[in-house]
Amino acid sequence: MRMRSMLKKTLYSLAPVAFAATAALSSAPAAAQQKFVTIGTGGVTGVYYAAGGAICRLVNKERASHGIRCSVESTGGSVFNVNTIKAGELDLGFTQSDVQYNAVKGEGQFKEGGVVGDLRAVFAVHPEPITVVARKEANVSKFEDFKGKRFNVGNPGSGTRSAMDELLQAIEWTQGNFSLASELKADEHGPALCDGKIDGFLYGVGHPSANIQDPTTTCGAQLVPLTGAAIDKLVADKPYYAKVTIPGGLYPNNANATETYGVLATVVASSKTPADTVYAVTKAVFDNFDEFKKLHPALAHLSPESMIKDGLSAPLHEGAERYYKEKGWLK
Ligand code: GLU
Repeated sequence: MRMRSMLKKTLYSLAPVAFAATAALSSAPAAAQQKFVTIGTGGVTGVYYAAGGAICRLVNKERASHGIRCSVESTGGSVFNVNTIKAGELDLGFTQSDVQYNAVKGEGQFKEGGVVGDLRAVFAVHPEPITVVARKEANVSKFEDFKGKRFNVGNPGSGTRSAMDELLQAIEWTQGNFSLASELKADEHGPALCDGKIDGFLYGVGHPSANIQDPTTTCGAQLVPLTGAAIDKLVADKPYYAKVTIPGGLYPNNANATETYGVLATVVASSKTPADTVYAVTKAVFDNFDEFKKLHPALAHLSPESMIKDGLSAPLHEGAERYYKEKGWLK
């Protein structure tokens, strides 16, 4: 209950940021050059959107010193964000560490488009367990039980979908093993589950998240473990996966811990994103680190040491590197 009210409070308290920013526009000193930075996130019920809101709140607080107005955009997720940053239409964005890796190597979803050479890492954020959720009445206790059932494989452009594709390959399934493979966005899968339109969904997301809180509360949805020999092999084969446990009791009606594997959320930019902009964003987060960690419960356990090295396959962005060197965190 406490967690729930904390989550809601965080989400709602982030909402006024956009209004505050708009109001401040007119009062910005005419001489200071107004710069805009947009961070690509994910669905509004996910953690990227809330974490992006937290970053922008801290950036906007310091606007007098750098003249930057930061705002977040709700998007289709990780792969969309990388491609849109590549196209120069987003300055920064969130992406799963597996998607960052594939973009740097030209693998997975980037096989056709090729290596994203301009991609730059800023920092890593929260862990994202690959989270499988089943409708209570679906009688599912392990992933294999979804055979012949209706499953949401995620929208194209999401990191969730790319993780789904790798999971299916690892267990030698195709979408044909489901009676229905829907492509709903993350904001839609919870309501669809509770309405009985699908039997399960997969989501790469930080915890706790409003997205999982809602169906577990509303219709007793159940978290399903991802374990077994094929998963062990997948985690051993891919450098970006690690085994993780979602603690029991984090969500209503889910008292037991759930074993699965996961990635890290990361923030990326383009080598073309101005160094001063990325420097200001990085500085806002780490200069106000205690406040940052309090802005969403999924951020509570972060530490700068791991955020500047774990899960970063792309070279560090010049602006982020400048800040880390100033702090003496990097040589
Ligand atoms: N990792 C998810 C994706 O890229 C998004 C999670 C979130 O929005 O918090 O599809």
